[in-house]
Amino acid sequence: MHHRVDGSELQRLVVKIGTSSLICETGSPALPRIRRICSEVAQMRQAGVDVAVVTSGAIGIGRERLGMVERPKTIPEKQAAAAVGQSALVQIYEREFAEYGIPVGQVLVTRDDMKARSRYLNLINTFNTLFDFGVVPIVNENDTVAVEELRFENNDILSALVASAIDADLLVLLTDTDGLYTADPRKDPSAKRYDVVDELTLDILEGATDTASSYGTGGFHTKLEAARICMSAGIEMVIANADTERVLQQTLSPTPPGTRFIPKHHLAGRKRWFAFNLPIRGRILVDDGARAAVLNKGKSLLPSGIAAVQGQFDHGDLVAICGLDGLEFARGLANYSSDEVERIKGANSSEIQLRLGYKDYDVVIHRDNLVCLA
Ligand code: GLU
Repeated sequence: MHHRVDGSELQRLVVKIGTSSLICETGSPALPRIRRICSEVAQMRQAGVDVAVVTSGAIGIGRERLGMVERPKTIPEKQAAAAVGQSALVQIYEREFAEYGIPVGQVLVTRDDMKARSRYLNLINTFNTLFDFGVVPIVNENDTVAVEELRFENNDILSALVASAIDADLLVLLTDTDGLYTADPRKDPSAKRYDVVDELTLDILEGATDTASSYGTGGFHTKLEAARICMSAGIEMVIANADTERVLQQTLSPTPPGTRFIPKHHLAGRKRWFAFNLPIRGRILVDDGARAAVLNKGKSLLPSGIAAVQGQFDHGDLVAICGLDGLEFARGLANYSSDEVERIKGANSSEIQLRLGYKDYDVVIHRDNLVCLA
């Protein structure tokens, strides 16, 4: 049995392994490292923890197998490389986990699968059943069919969405640096690592913009995006170096070998689904009073606090709620379309009838359909 820092039992864990940790300089799979990480995952599984592995590296390994000297440029070339690399990758996991008698199952997802509520719920059921059978799901984006514009930005985001969907306690991003730094430690020797982050401040976000991890597609921008999803959903996240010995076990110690992101509050499953999987269709800018009412008092969004509307959205669409500074602090499902909000902004709820000629709701976004972001 494994315990988390707060003493609670660790039940469900997602481990994301980045491309830079999976592939050597030559382009072939980094087998000794993969072997070590798999043995750590296996130990967790044997201790009764549900573990899903989110793996990158399919395109990279496919490239090598197909003798593509340059990075594939066209989409069909990338998709062909992914098809070849993905099966090679799963064979590696299959072999590694067989050493421990643990079956693996390939789970390939696209953004569309997560967007459709019925498919999303189906996916969760599949994960639950795989875990019941003691399987380690090996997850990646379905790169061979995913359309470019509709992709997850990368596997950092995918792993956070999977962790959120299956209600994991912890997401560990294994990468080629020791965590999140105030600046790029490879360029700036005075850069310091953040050990614990409980708020995503502007300083943190700005410090991360130029800190790319070397081979991966992500860098820190998408790792912080993943952190935002986890912290908003109620999942702890750790960024750690894939080369650290016993990295998963150590992640559960009071001083993990990396940066630990502490979640704020636990979000209900339906809220997690719409907040992180539906596309954002527009933005509503609100004044400070409305901002405080939503953030600190958990109130619904009334028309009176609304200062401006951007984008075109319909009833039921997901919209970002931003302060007057334009920064998004919450999001939710709108009761009124953008045209309607434009007409009722600034009004008291009692004036909605007068302005629209009808009144379907008193509030623009009900608190049951509203999520505050970390
Ligand atoms: N899905 C891609 C692959 O397996 C990786 C995406 C990423 O690097 O985050 O090649």
